[in-house]
Amino acid sequence: MDAVNLLGFDLPGLAAYCEQLGEKKFRATQLFRWIHQKGASDFEQMSDLAKSLREKLKGNAHIAALPVISEHVSTDGTIKWLFDVGNGDAVEAVFIPEDDRGTLCISSQAGCAVGCRFCSTGHQGFSRNLGAAEITAQLWFAEHNLRKRLNTTERVISNVVMMGMGEPLQNYDQLVPALKTMLDDHGYGLSRRRVTVSTSGVVPMIDRLREDCPVALAVSLHAPTDPLRDQLVPLNKKYPIAELLDACNRYLDKAPRDFITFEYCMLQEVNDSPEQAHELVRLLKNKVNCKINLIPFNPFPASGLTRSTNARVQAFAEVLIQAAIVTTVRKTRGDDIDAACGQLAGEVQDRTRAHIRMVRAPVTVAKSS
Ligand code: SAH
Ligand code: SF4
Repeated sequence: MDAVNLLGFDLPGLAAYCEQLGEKKFRATQLFRWIHQKGASDFEQMSDLAKSLREKLKGNAHIAALPVISEHVSTDGTIKWLFDVGNGDAVEAVFIPEDDRGTLCISSQAGCAVGCRFCSTGHQGFSRNLGAAEITAQLWFAEHNLRKRLNTTERVISNVVMMGMGEPLQNYDQLVPALKTMLDDHGYGLSRRRVTVSTSGVVPMIDRLREDCPVALAVSLHAPTDPLRDQLVPLNKKYPIAELLDACNRYLDKAPRDFITFEYCMLQEVNDSPEQAHELVRLLKNKVNCKINLIPFNPFPASGLTRSTNARVQAFAEVLIQAAIVTTVRKTRGDDIDAACGQLAGEVQDRTRAHIRMVRAPVTVAKSS
């Protein structure tokens, strides 16, 4: 029998597992703290656990990180890890340090089935869902690796965003235990407002997340009308904008913040005209409490699309701000390490390029009062 990777369990899951081994449930809390708070991977280290339990765990379970294929450190402090998830697939996690926080961007799938036109992951298609252990392993590794290099026992990662590779809400069952581990006081102890799920709009799963684990929500909107969104985000044909906005409003009464973040990738002469900004205002103003995050497009050859000029981004933002919609433009982080990724070979290079967009952090350019 394959060893069970304990990184995949949230605390109730680990308690159930301990019971299965014939152990008291409360042992799980000690074990969970060893794993997530102390970063232990060797059961022998866990000195306050009974020897008999340690022996059972050694025979049945392990705490397994993902093999690191590469690490790139930017001059601005951004760190990007590429992890091997087997069969030629690789996923990325990116750490973005800022003055008042440290954000980790995590992947949920190898590839993605949604197929957005402007997304290189979407162009590559879907390979497979990550398991809960593989999702949590990205945080477990990054947090404890960073603590070691910074020579601290304090928490380094204060925020997690599910904005890496894949559509998290199309991998719901594996996502939720990972989120719960992030939130658990015996795990990473992150508040719900510091964990963000970004989705292209899987409406029924937005409703389920609202019930099961209502963390902060970011929705990838990218267009003010259905005909355009149908083209950019094919999932829109299944869940059109009106249904998506209704789901956002339902989510808001459980959400940790009183707004939804809408992401809008700025594509030159596709979705970035002042008229489209006005359409966006008409769509959202007094309809959904929101903030808009404009993301300058990261071009890749197969897309046939180009990044909006700064002037167009500013003009678009101005229309939204005039309408008193809080609007931010993402600034580029870690640009220098994107280039370095080109040194990787084949499949891995493709997947890395797909995630250049992750090395971006939000910066506020203007706020309405
Ligand atoms: N699948 C989820 C989360 C991962 S994508 C989602 O779509 O929301 C994270 C964000 O990066 C999304 O807003 C996505 O639209 C955006 N994005 C994808 N490709 C991009 C690119 N080439 N340039 C800029 N942003 C991109
Ligand atoms: Fe998938 Fe998100 Fe990329 Fe769309 S933008 S293809 S949903 S990862």
